[in-house]
Amino acid sequence: MNTQLIYLKTDHISENKLLKAVKILQEDHCVAIPTETVYGLAANALSELAIKRIFEAKGRPSDNPLIVHVSNMDMLKRCIQQDLSIRITAIIDAFWPGPLTLVFKKSELIPEVVSAHLDTVGIRWPAHPIALALIEASGFPLAAPSANVSGRPSPTKAEHVLHDLNGKIAGIIMAEQSVVGVESTVLDVSSDDFRILRKGGVSLESLQQIDPSITYDDALAHPELTPKSPGQKYKHYAPSKPMLALSGNIESLVSHLKTMNLEHILLISVDEILNQLNAPYHLSLGSLHDHEVAMNRLFDCLRESETIPVDSIIITGFDDAGLGATLNDRIGKASSQKLTII
Ligand code: AMP
Ligand code: MG
Repeated sequence: MNTQLIYLKTDHISENKLLKAVKILQEDHCVAIPTETVYGLAANALSELAIKRIFEAKGRPSDNPLIVHVSNMDMLKRCIQQDLSIRITAIIDAFWPGPLTLVFKKSELIPEVVSAHLDTVGIRWPAHPIALALIEASGFPLAAPSANVSGRPSPTKAEHVLHDLNGKIAGIIMAEQSVVGVESTVLDVSSDDFRILRKGGVSLESLQQIDPSITYDDALAHPELTPKSPGQKYKHYAPSKPMLALSGNIESLVSHLKTMNLEHILLISVDEILNQLNAPYHLSLGSLHDHEVAMNRLFDCLRESETIPVDSIIITGFDDAGLGATLNDRIGKASSQKLTII
């Protein structure tokens, strides 16, 4: 398949070029689009054929449901069969548009293939001007999982998408790097027991400021339980080389790393650690205390690791508070081995 590359600038969206992408979407084909979380592989959420093409291009297991992206409240209401309670409205007012997906009871408009035969659907109102302009101009909601081949690190740059999906999809919108850099937090609001099913761009603590009753789904802490979010059980984000994740405080991590021969190893870590070592190959996630910068860089570092001539990778983790929990989740899922240094 010939993949059309459509160059767009977020602060000056060319109407002409946008309509090229809309045409592809209206013909039930997939277009990779920028969002503030990661690049998404978008297609008409109401068309079974379009959805099948997303699963095919990504090689995504068919039991892993897709998130539906909307651009206004009317569109949301058409996709769900559930009243918007005061609790839900407070969350929407605080976090939409933004990196939060809400799982609702789904309406009949949503095809079974989107929700992987669940009676719920995950919906997000993204904050990216290009994504919003596309939904508005298409007139239908867009299903959009991350625009990578399943199992690979999620794409935060258009070039990542090109690397994974060139020739497999009809179009790629070539725009700027995603600002958030990790996927949305998935919060189930389909019953009164609001639970986080996937960690992401909004922290537990900031959700609890709006609704203190919100907690993590038990399966996030206990891998032996069946997750409510089917995607949680799959291997994710893995770079092509073995990666060891180290956790511990700065002092113990530095002491441990000083005992190692790092000659053939890439160290992905924070400046507070890298500055104390002489690692020949390293990539920085920024400061230990700046989770947002680390999220923005993480997937790009994992992909860049593939161009560096080393045998394996070591990556260091974060404090679990706030968005550190999201970083540790992605690092854990991407690693082939984990070690805690005390
Ligand atoms: P991705 O599209 O790669 O960002 O992954 C979407 C994530 O949201 C996966 O972990 C899915 O399992 C999860 N998800 C989507 N829809 C639902 C739903 N209806 N119920 C539970 N989890 C969902
Ligand atoms: Mg994904």
